[in-house]
Amino acid sequence: MPNSKYTPRRRVIQAISVLFLLSIPLRFVCFDLENEILRIFGKDFGLATMFYPLFAIVGLLLYVLYLSMKKGRIFCSHMCPMHMFLETVNSPKSKASETRPIKVWLWATFWSVFLTEVILSFFQPLGNQLRLISSGNMPIIGIGAALIAGFMGLFVHYQEHFCKKGCPYALIQMLLQSDRTRTMKFANPEKTCTNCRGCDDICPFNLRTRFESKSTDCSNCNLCAEACADELGPENTLFHLTDP
Ligand code: SF4
Ligand code: SF4
Repeated sequence: MPNSKYTPRRRVIQAISVLFLLSIPLRFVCFDLENEILRIFGKDFGLATMFYPLFAIVGLLLYVLYLSMKKGRIFCSHMCPMHMFLETVNSPKSKASETRPIKVWLWATFWSVFLTEVILSFFQPLGNQLRLISSGNMPIIGIGAALIAGFMGLFVHYQEHFCKKGCPYALIQMLLQSDRTRTMKFANPEKTCTNCRGCDDICPFNLRTRFESKSTDCSNCNLCAEACADELGPENTLFHLTDP
């Protein structure tokens, strides 16, 4: 039976990730260039004390790498905006809809503008950015336009191909993956698979889930296991997230 709490838990962590990103334009987390102050959730660190939060950030990154070694592409399925985007535009309902291209453009625009603003406002508050843009400041106009164009390219054109072939985290994950990493296993001993393709239709990465769920491309999002449980009953899903 698939873990019925897995997706709700994943949604909570995804929401926390979005709130964290939102905290940057709101200036709870930012770097004040003029005063050389790093602000982490409202607490300011000057040059002399900045190494405390920097150590904490490095520790957090190492912890994510450790988790990736044990649990697979956990960052993708729980925190990455691209995965959230793909879950929306590659849902079975979306794939069957004629309006999918419009949906892709709308969500791509939302995420591209949002992520660009997150990056810019880490260094400059929105008010300053608008002032610089209205005064024709070319560096900020150029950086903003390049970021939006780059993100739009990823969201509209590359989509899951970027996750599989271009994302630096995916490359690191390939190195970290071993026999001791959690994988999504498919087994059909009783030959009960009805070939309904529910598992394939729901995969955000468009994997042929029954053959590719064990690959490093799989984000262990558990959606195929849940789709199979919908088809065969909760006890009979043919997919299982397996910790060696
Ligand atoms: S194969 Fe299953 S667990 Fe892996 S990404 Fe696709 S839906 Fe998610
Ligand atoms: S969802 Fe289950 S029953 Fe349907 S094709 Fe996939 S493995 Fe087979």
